Amino acid sequence: MDNILEVSGLTKNYDNFSLKDISFYLPEGCITGFVGINGAGKTTTLRTVLGLTGKVSGNIKFFDMDIEGNEGKIKDRIGIVLNEGCFYDDLTLSEMKSVIAPAYKNWCEKDFIEYLERFSLNPKQKISTLSKGMRMKFALALALSHKAELLVMDEPTGGLDPLVRSQLLDILKDYMSKGGKGVFFSTHITSDLDKIADMLIMIDDGQIVFQEEKDQLLDSYRIIKGSTEKLNENTRKLFLNIEESAFGFMGITKQSADIMEHMQDVLAERPTIEDIMLANVERRKKNAV
Ligand code: ATP
Repeated sequence: MDNILEVSGLTKNYDNFSLKDISFYLPEGCITGFVGINGAGKTTTLRTVLGLTGKVSGNIKFFDMDIEGNEGKIKDRIGIVLNEGCFYDDLTLSEMKSVIAPAYKNWCEKDFIEYLERFSLNPKQKISTLSKGMRMKFALALALSHKAELLVMDEPTGGLDPLVRSQLLDILKDYMSKGGKGVFFSTHITSDLDKIADMLIMIDDGQIVFQEEKDQLLDSYRIIKGSTEKLNENTRKLFLNIEESAFGFMGITKQSADIMEHMQDVLAERPTIEDIMLANVERRKKNAV
């Protein structure tokens, strides 16, 4: 499987935040979810990788080409949906499209019209009158109408109702079914990724915590529940985090086989992506104290 994007050693500094030596890759044929809590660095990573803001160091390769010197060729092959959606509010959808379309060599008017119909968007409607969901669909129609091989989306489901979110997930599945494509999808609403992601990358405090196939990731962690007296100094070390209450404890671990060997009468359950994300954030905070 080829990689659509390869990022290595990426560093960027703001006054109070840094991306610290970030490396990851996006395989072709995968929907890759980019997860992290608010302020973890998702938007900064996407904007830096897309060349919308400068970096201190690092290599960025799309389709096996360095971004430096190949920006035009690369941008023709990427569809971008950023959460702020940079549109002129006074224009109609059709007028806005006429501003954007000439920037792409492979613009396909037929695809654009089909997406507008599919999303029930009226080309004569003014952008200022679009709801949040309609705005996202318009951004998606633009991003998907120039034969893009990679779709990059920053928090596309934030603020959308469950129906529109589920429509978006269907559109992504449909897009991927054409083959040879990739999607890179940042979000802190991990339930959407439980449904469609193939690969997951987690960022926390400007560092990559993991990159793993979703099914492998979910298989490698377990939630363990039991009575608190089963915990001791040694078994506690096997957990990323532990919550204790009058009813017992609940903890997340990557070492469930060791735990089962040392602790009898405990329950093991499969976690969600959110459980894994939060456990990793808590472990980092605990280690920082
Ligand atoms: P969210 O889920 O809330 O969108 P995020 O993971 O996308 O969060 P970023 O928007 O990348 O996080 O922000 C990471 C950090 O970088 C934050 O502390 C933010 O304040 C800081 N930051 C982002 N943009 C700038 C900027 N232009 N100048 C200075 N600091 C910035």
